[in-house]
Amino acid sequence: MVYDTENIFAKIIGGEIPCEKVYEGKHVLAFHDIAPQAPVHILVIPKGQYTSLNDFSEKASDEEASELIRVLGRLSRDFNIVESGYRILANHGKNAHQEVPHFHVHLLGGRDLGGIVSHGG
Ligand code: AMP
Repeated sequence: MVYDTENIFAKIIGGEIPCEKVYEGKHVLAFHDIAPQAPVHILVIPKGQYTSLNDFSEKASDEEASELIRVLGRLSRDFNIVESGYRILANHGKNAHQEVPHFHVHLLGGRDLGGIVSHGG
């Protein structure tokens, strides 16, 4: 998949579209999801141009990858969802209904999140 430089998260990284930022580092940005599915629903994204985990896991540097994973842990602590429990989730492609073609990890918590997979329809 070719990276679409006009996607909404590229615009957030570029500052063209605002976000409710909760973390910014050298390689990673994190902000509240605009349509939260739980009391805590944060999106953690690399600043680099990666379409999904598939792309990121192949091409990102170890420094980018480690910042991303450490930010997920740090935010779970900052938002007090370690004890109650949380879920991290990344959609890739059609079957997972990935909407935004820039790699992002959802951090969800603050309520019972139910089963892991929707049987949809
Ligand atoms: P996914 O289905 O994994 O691609 O999820 C995309 C997520 O991006 C959804 O949860 C949307 O609510 C969220 N989203 C879309 N636009 C924005 C935005 N401008 N700011 C914050 N979150 C957004």
